Amino acid sequence: MVRRMLVVLTGMAVVGLAASGAAGAQQTVRVGLTYGKPALKSVVISGSGEWRARRFSEPFNGEVRIAAARGELVLQIGARRGGVGPWIELRPNEQGRSLTADGSAYRGSLRVEVHANAQLKVVNIVGVEDYVRGVVTNEMFEHPGAFKVQAVISRTLAVYIRDIEKKHARDGFDICATGHCQVYRGVNSERRLADEAVAATRGEVLTYRGRPIFSAYHANAGGRTQPVDEAWPGSIRRKFPYLSAVASPYDGQANDLPGYAWCYRWRREMRPEEIRKLIGGSERRLGEVRDVVVKRTTSTGRVRELEIVGTRGRTSVTGASKVRGALGVPSALFEVERDGGCFVLHGRGRGHGVGLSQHGALGMAKAGHRYEEILAHFYRGVELTENYGSGKSRKLLPPELHFEALESSPVTVPPGVS
Ligand SMILES: [Zn+2]
Repeated sequence: MVRRMLVVLTGMAVVGLAASGAAGAQQTVRVGLTYGKPALKSVVISGSGEWRARRFSEPFNGEVRIAAARGELVLQIGARRGGVGPWIELRPNEQGRSLTADGSAYRGSLRVEVHANAQLKVVNIVGVEDYVRGVVTNEMFEHPGAFKVQAVISRTLAVYIRDIEKKHARDGFDICATGHCQVYRGVNSERRLADEAVAATRGEVLTYRGRPIFSAYHANAGGRTQPVDEAWPGSIRRKFPYLSAVASPYDGQANDLPGYAWCYRWRREMRPEEIRKLIGGSERRLGEVRDVVVKRTTSTGRVRELEIVGTRGRTSVTGASKVRGALGVPSALFEVERDGGCFVLHGRGRGHGVGLSQHGALGMAKAGHRYEEILAHFYRGVELTENYGSGKSRKLLPPELHFEALESSPVTVPPGVS
């Protein structure tokens, strides 16, 4: 049996939360740090200065190891060890300080919970602005204007997922820290130029008819974005009228980004056997792959139905995102050519192609377009609204683009990426 923790519960409520009613206060978001990661058995929390746990009167400093046993958290501080119930929330005493979980520093507070009896779930409850500071540099290349674009779309997406989509509501947090939502790494990802972009756009989110938009974005559109319902057939176009198809003439910007040229025009060679395995076709029913045929495309040329013809049978993959996922290729915007014993896929772009192209946005920013113009170009008919969607709004107008997409040779996709 684990002894009860000695520092426990004098009944004194610890007031550590930032004032939330003040004008201009930043909203908070709960980020699931452990979601999508290997099971966590224990975590070491440390911090500079003193920090506190809700329900505990005694401040902490130094280091605490937290593990889970029989549905309860077990804290170890130096030689002391004891159970503290199913959850604990830790917060620095002084504003501006951060706590570190297994070597990564986070602003706001850290809530540790028992998960699946003997595992841990760690949730970072953090101000939206501080959250965005921990996202921007993971998702965008360094440029003042492009960072502002990314700050607005990351902030908008966080508010959209938290309040409207609510896709993580059952997980006990608002948004996860992986590419499933947006890559967030806390203080370690903060940089001065990105911080300035976040501060310059503080509280600004994109709205449509008064509600935060689904600010979908992807790496590279390969010259043209695609309407939302063609990427994800279940989605309704009239729900997301701002996610239509637009030209993205600056996508060739990828050629200027070391190591990313393949995101604009790419090629991948695939052996028949490799294709059979990727689509999960059995030797018995499909036989050897003889042909790969594009049967149908979307309005922007993405492969919507791909037929694989084998010596014993044939099978189809349907839906642009399924095609991309099944073959593990950068995008569904490709053509297939037979070359001797191999199939060669010639493609353009990386990602689902919906909403904002990040390389295209970077190219526009470098060409001198303001962040509002870039947002208006990729999300048609939207407004930029202050105070997380409840403040003053201004209509955004797209600029006229007179730029011809540049042509370049395809680059082989490096192994291991898609
Ligand atoms: Zn997620």
